[in-house]
Amino acid sequence: MTSKRTIPVLSVEQRQHRASLQLDDFFHTVPSDIREKVQTLSRRISQMNARITVKLQEILRTADQIFGYAGKYAACARGCGHCCHVHVPISDFEAEYIAHHVGTKALPLKQSIHHDRMEYSGKTPCVFLKNGECSIYEARPLTCRMHLNFDIDSFWCQHENWNNPEAAIPRPDIHPLMEAYHMLAGKSEPVVADIRDYFPRGKNT
Ligand code: SF4
Ligand code: SF4
Repeated sequence: MTSKRTIPVLSVEQRQHRASLQLDDFFHTVPSDIREKVQTLSRRISQMNARITVKLQEILRTADQIFGYAGKYAACARGCGHCCHVHVPISDFEAEYIAHHVGTKALPLKQSIHHDRMEYSGKTPCVFLKNGECSIYEARPLTCRMHLNFDIDSFWCQHENWNNPEAAIPRPDIHPLMEAYHMLAGKSEPVVADIRDYFPRGKNT
């Protein structure tokens, strides 16, 4: 990563303390109307008479609205791609959304594919990572939008630090976003797999 800031040497405790302050500052920066939109998301989604992908778009928009206030508090920077070298789980309806927006087709997987958390870590980039940047940025999955790091740098995102028992990427827990996402599938069980399973050749799948 090319960090936005000069990186002081910090202990794990100092990092955690600082990150929790950053997270607090971030939450306090978010205007009340955006907080309200997040809190009422599940209800709004359930009242929408629309296709699942339209409802998903509303969740993604809401995620962008709240995380649009994270910039100055997060270590995330353009070109920092450790988080694009990890398992990226998506559901079938999200694969459909991505396929529609990038003009390709997702493989029609019949059942979920389980992946170990470490399977891709540090080794296999996401198929949509091009020249260090997300090539489907506007259509990227919810998990990518939520994967922010409120530490001072990308230290805990680096693969070599993942086995450290103290490793914990300080990131926000925006429960209503995930609740609304899980609600989308309704009573049916979504097919969940890695983004690479759905799009083995990226946009050319
Ligand atoms: S989550 Fe980590 S790896 Fe991803 S952009 Fe942020 S700091 Fe970089
Ligand atoms: S979809 Fe984009 S942001 Fe998400 S892992 Fe792939 S390249 Fe990274």
